[in-house]
Amino acid sequence: MIIKIRDAMNDISRDKTKKKLSELQFRVTQQSATERPFSHEGFEEDTKLFECVCCDSILFKIENKFESGSGWPSFWSPFSAEAITEHKDESYGMVRTEVKCSNCNAHLGHVFEDGPEPTGLRYCINGAALNGKK
Ligand SMILES: [Zn+2]
Repeated sequence: MIIKIRDAMNDISRDKTKKKLSELQFRVTQQSATERPFSHEGFEEDTKLFECVCCDSILFKIENKFESGSGWPSFWSPFSAEAITEHKDESYGMVRTEVKCSNCNAHLGHVFEDGPEPTGLRYCINGAALNGKK
């Protein structure tokens, strides 16, 4: 029963989400699509925090952002360990680690182990999944 209620709630929030998001934002966050590299226009210069485009949770901060050359916004750490969840993703014949918003389960991107110190991680995130905040 609880599961049924939760499913109904998810349907409601999914409908709400759909209205608020652009088509690209919807495809990325709800259908795990990947935006084309170098397609994101970037964030305003004085952006300090990066929020989930669906639920406004803070996911990343500017101090952890770096230029990876990959064509996607890249971070070496999430804002906090609680901000995101990581899931094994075996789609497209690859084994990758998918990164999602822990609050609303929006797909954000993937994390790879070729990032800079101190973590050695590269969170490769779709710009369409993030809202910059000053
Ligand atoms: Zn979210």
